[in-house]
Amino acid sequence: MFVDSHCHLGSPELLERLPEIRAAMRAARVDRALCICTTLDEFERVHALALGDDDLWCSAGVHPDEEDSREPSVAALVALAALPKVVAIGETGLDYYRLGDRRPEDMDWQRERFRVHIRAARACGRPLVIHTRSASADTLAVLREEQGGQAGGVFHCFTETAEVARAALDMGFHISFSGILTFKNAADLREVAAFVPLDRCLIETDSPYLAPVPFRGKLNTPANVPLVAAAVALAKGLEVEQIAEATTANFERLFLGTVPRSSRIP
Ligand SMILES: [Zn+2]
Ligand SMILES: [Zn+2]
Repeated sequence: MFVDSHCHLGSPELLERLPEIRAAMRAARVDRALCICTTLDEFERVHALALGDDDLWCSAGVHPDEEDSREPSVAALVALAALPKVVAIGETGLDYYRLGDRRPEDMDWQRERFRVHIRAARACGRPLVIHTRSASADTLAVLREEQGGQAGGVFHCFTETAEVARAALDMGFHISFSGILTFKNAADLREVAAFVPLDRCLIETDSPYLAPVPFRGKLNTPANVPLVAAAVALAKGLEVEQIAEATTANFERLFLGTVPRSSRIP
């Protein structure tokens, strides 16, 4: 079976087709998915999805691109993380891709929000779901300053270099690959996928965006995650079943372990 470790089933375009999508997931042997929260206002929606389905879980957090969103406090995130089926803090991180006429120095609000998420993850012993785009150096720097490695987690939808992957792995993080790995121009990323140890790999769709080849540009759903697994398998010279088995085990260990990470790792 396959697990989609990062999807936005709470987004309107997927939510309105939920029965159809769940059926397509079953047909594709995608048994489980983690529904990612992007704003505090969205939390109730993704949490309801997780509560209503044994094979769905959710996160709690505010995406770095959600500039005008309600700001979370450490206490608020810790409280949400204590609810049933909430297994991660995020997605959080830094995104300097759409700066407009601003400079990275102007993005203190984003870095401060990221710090709040890291502190919450450490406080509740839940892993972080990290989004980083055009901001890898600062993402790693903030994680180091806040000892984010103590919470652990995943760099999701990874598109950075092998050096960034190495630094994330050294801090104890997992690396998650998306449909981008199937894109024609992603040769460098396929080398990164070959390099990341199998026991630290996850797979995801980040749906509704980033549909893998041959569905590029179409609506993406968690049912497409086997195509990502196939791309990881190709990059590593392994069988798809090996990728399915390993990424499922990694997902269970990282997100579904009954003992919080912080109490397992001194
Ligand atoms: Zn993201
Ligand atoms: Zn996402």
